[in-house]
Amino acid sequence: MIIRNGAVALSGAPRLVKTDIQVSRGVISALGLGLPPDGEEEFDAAGLEIYPGGIDPHVHFFDPGFPDKEDFFHGTAGAASGGITTIIDMPCTSDPPVINRRNLEIKREIVEPKAVVDFCFFGGICSQSFEAGFPGWMDELAPLVPAFKTYATSGDPKFERLNHYQFYRVLEKARDLGRPILLHAEDADFVIPATAALRGSGDSPGTFSATRPELAETLAVFAVSEIAETLQAPLHIVHIGTARAAEIVAERTTTTGETCPQYLAFDIDDFERIGAPLKITPPVKGPAEKDQLWDFLARGGIDFVASDHAPGTFEQKNTGSIWTDYAGIPGGPTLFLYTYSAGLRAGRLSLQRFLEVTSAAAANRYALEDRKGRIEVGLDADLALVDPAATTIVRGEESLSKGKITPFEGMRLHGRIHSTMVRGAFVYREGTLLSSGGTGRFTAPQPQR
Ligand SMILES: [Zn+2]
Repeated sequence: MIIRNGAVALSGAPRLVKTDIQVSRGVISALGLGLPPDGEEEFDAAGLEIYPGGIDPHVHFFDPGFPDKEDFFHGTAGAASGGITTIIDMPCTSDPPVINRRNLEIKREIVEPKAVVDFCFFGGICSQSFEAGFPGWMDELAPLVPAFKTYATSGDPKFERLNHYQFYRVLEKARDLGRPILLHAEDADFVIPATAALRGSGDSPGTFSATRPELAETLAVFAVSEIAETLQAPLHIVHIGTARAAEIVAERTTTTGETCPQYLAFDIDDFERIGAPLKITPPVKGPAEKDQLWDFLARGGIDFVASDHAPGTFEQKNTGSIWTDYAGIPGGPTLFLYTYSAGLRAGRLSLQRFLEVTSAAAANRYALEDRKGRIEVGLDADLALVDPAATTIVRGEESLSKGKITPFEGMRLHGRIHSTMVRGAFVYREGTLLSSGGTGRFTAPQPQR
């Protein structure tokens, strides 16, 4: 097929370029104005901007195991409606968790028929791995997963945090395997005693946040990235909300980081106002952090954005206490368009930086760049078509994800996702989902470097 007349975001070009895109067997086969007809379908994209489909490198789709929160069909449908063409699912919030090869294969068999967009899985390492399968599980998973998730503070007793010595062992192994370690960075020596001390003293977002302040994040980032630096091992900090933590990441030579729209858009004052719909861990931070996070994202100290999509049900989000309300929000459907609107259109991100933070940088970090992340001949035809003249008002009730409670409710964004194409096939177009699952494929990372 040929997509004609779109304004296309090409790698390296400072501005959108009017060019046609030819797609053959799911792959971009030619780029250029006035491509000769290939006898197949043509799509007129006049008036539309065409970007590499977004990569959301941090989601929790809870499948199998917890379909009341989310499942792979609704999660990937929501992603598709938001211009995302590849997601990477976290290992720790499904049953079974992806901690060994057998579990990964069980999970893949269950979720692949439901997937609307392409996907892969992170592996997971918890303290329990040290009693069972460490380091063998890392060896057997490394060819199939782009990285391994760990926690410095964990809310899940089945997936416990690592101590410093365990981080040392895991990072040493990660260096040898050539796969990064992902870190949920909140210091347990701060969070656990602070929670015990403060839980009885109030039931407000501010009291909850005081158990997980900026310092809790900075301490964990500093300590574990120091281990990584010492070993020259690849580490990646997920969902950074604190500018000082980003500054440490920027100083390291083998550590990268991501942030999420919720940390760029909201702060603790919003949390006081919005309450549980904005409850996440780590919580949103002080008002001074947001602008600095944007600066790090624009300059490269923070490498890319991710949604940390993790919806809870209405009941789980409304327990009557901020301490027990579920921590997590459905960010997948809004990740790309929020970054487009508040980043690119607002002038905070250049076009090339926007492309890096929404697709190319995650593809590079997670060994997918031979197929994903750029509009180039030979790569998968994964595309997000944006109508720049339209506006989008976020309405949780209209979401294709199971997560309807979003802190972005009512937010007005520049642009609208016109359509989303996965390997040359429209899966979402003008408000309609065109896939009932099975259009997304398991996407293994490239062999280890
Ligand atoms: Zn997460």
